[in-house]
Amino acid sequence: MGLKLDLHTHCYEATMCSSVNAVEKIVNAVKARGLDGIAVTEHIDKDYGYRVKRIVEKRFDGEVLIIPGQEINTSLIHVQVVELYLSDNATFRFVAHPYHLTDFSRYVAAHAHELHGVEIENFQHRWEMKQVNREKIRAVAEEYDLMLLANSDAHSLGDIGRYYNEVDLGELHKRIGRKRCKSKVTNE
Ligand SMILES: [Zn+2]
Repeated sequence: MGLKLDLHTHCYEATMCSSVNAVEKIVNAVKARGLDGIAVTEHIDKDYGYRVKRIVEKRFDGEVLIIPGQEINTSLIHVQVVELYLSDNATFRFVAHPYHLTDFSRYVAAHAHELHGVEIENFQHRWEMKQVNREKIRAVAEEYDLMLLANSDAHSLGDIGRYYNEVDLGELHKRIGRKRCKSKVTNE
């Protein structure tokens, strides 16, 4: 069964805090949108997402699913990648807001073996994304086996879940597994 998940949020920037009280506000924001969960993907900070996950599980009985992650910069100035840390040490990686198509294509061509998705919608960058040729993004996604995602990139609690995906976590694992097999083949 699919879960309603916003896979790109900046809850620390939204709350500036990781207290139980701040996490309660995050949980309420997720529930108010009718989502099953979110990925907490701070800029270059894995620990914050894990902290939020621990507090939600301990103090809020796992009422919503928290996937820890982070957003990282790449060698290309216009390309940011979001990493999601799933169970079984599986890492799902997707390109965030690919509104710079030339750099996006270059990056994907070089890193396809470790990329599993790309955002086709991003609420925070919706104006930039409006200018982009979506067919190009779809074509690159098709060529390199990337899942199309819609996320909020929320920097405030009210923006959490503005865009979200209906996904099966098994599907994310399957896509990670497919790339592993492919890179094995090319190494032989
Ligand atoms: Zn972001």
